[in-house]
Amino acid sequence: MPRLVMKFGGTSVADLARIANAARKVQREVESGYDVIVIVSAMSGKTNELVGWVDAVSPLYDAREYDAVVSSGENVTAGLMALTLQEMGVPARSWQGWQVPVKTTNAHGAARIEDIPPDNIAAKFAEGMKVAVVAGFQGIGPDNRITTLGRGGSDTTAVAFAAAMQAERCDIYTDVDGVYTTDPRIEEKARKLDRISYEEMLELASLGAKVLQTRSVELAMRYKVRLRVLSSFEDVTETSGTLVCAEEEIMESKVVSGVAYSRDEAKMTLVSVADRPGIAAAIFTPLAEAGVNVDMIVQNISEEGRTDMTFSCPTDQVTRAEKALDEAKAKGTINYHGLIADKDVCKVSVVGIGMRSHAGVAARMFQALAAEGVNIKVITTSEIKVSVLVDRKYMELAVQALHDAFELENAA
Ligand code: ADP
Ligand code: ASP
Ligand code: MG
Repeated sequence: MPRLVMKFGGTSVADLARIANAARKVQREVESGYDVIVIVSAMSGKTNELVGWVDAVSPLYDAREYDAVVSSGENVTAGLMALTLQEMGVPARSWQGWQVPVKTTNAHGAARIEDIPPDNIAAKFAEGMKVAVVAGFQGIGPDNRITTLGRGGSDTTAVAFAAAMQAERCDIYTDVDGVYTTDPRIEEKARKLDRISYEEMLELASLGAKVLQTRSVELAMRYKVRLRVLSSFEDVTETSGTLVCAEEEIMESKVVSGVAYSRDEAKMTLVSVADRPGIAAAIFTPLAEAGVNVDMIVQNISEEGRTDMTFSCPTDQVTRAEKALDEAKAKGTINYHGLIADKDVCKVSVVGIGMRSHAGVAARMFQALAAEGVNIKVITTSEIKVSVLVDRKYMELAVQALHDAFELENAA
């Protein structure tokens, strides 16, 4: 039997009626001849609630216990989905990550999937089971304890299963009907894309478009999984949703295909550090050791042997970064006159494969922001993206201005 992976996100399984709606979609695929692996998220809001409880009990929590608590939301949905399917007469069984097993690294809270032996589930399919409902977002580490894959991780579970079980396709059902030129909740003129390349989707995801977890796109690209994003609230047709596919499968791409934003950014500046060889290593090594994900870095022009070093990191890592830098200063490995944290910034990025062969994207981006009076604080570029850090109050305005400037309302 050909196999299909169907993943349902939090809003798609938010209550029993929605679980039933999702189950009917699964039933239809079973009736058309597939063995289906269903990956479910926790009911919407559940994971946030669980994370909040952990934080309330223990702000500097033990990550193993965080995973024990936070993984539980998916267990509930997996059982309810299997029961709903059984009630509809579809032979279904639920699986928690450890039962498959979904083997992961030991990085609790942000584990990576290492292996999914397909044999247990394949044996059940051979016995006549039609649907394996798997709790997303979770696995088991080498320490024999439950792990989780980072927020949004059920997407990655889905793609990993599609690769491990040689599914024909991986369908990600969510609350929008595909991947858009930007978040349709911020820009009403955003257009749904019929296709997007793995590379562009990877950039959009890593720059904040949470419609797919970054790691899921990486896996899809590596294992050539046919990945489709579509709405769980609409009927599926051949042309529904967005196909994430190889660049060669896209006829013509625009210079810029999407705009992404990330609200969750902070800018930190070390004022007046000694400008000498090794200073960047002395600053960024303790940050890396403290687990701070440094993103953009700017070193300002130095005066009289001193310089300002600015970097960005996720807002919730500011305290950790301050601690690491203060400790390095106390040890004497770095010396600075001040440390300024600005938590009211956001990152806005434009992404497009066409940038490889077209000059002037950055200039057009800066002009569009200037026309709106948006001041740019930090800039970074790569082959297929340009990102800027701006005040958070300008986030919507910046996204909309860039969407207009690159005429994305005409995309398809
Ligand atoms: P799920 O719970 O199904 O995993 P998510 O909330 O994680 O859903 O992801 C879907 C959301 O991603 C959408 O509701 C939308 O607001 C947001 N989003 C951000 N950027 C985009 C984009 N470019 N295209 C589509 N959706 C986007
Ligand atoms: N429930 C988890 C989260 O909210 C995983 C997911 O939904 O993908 O992050
Ligand atoms: Mg998600």
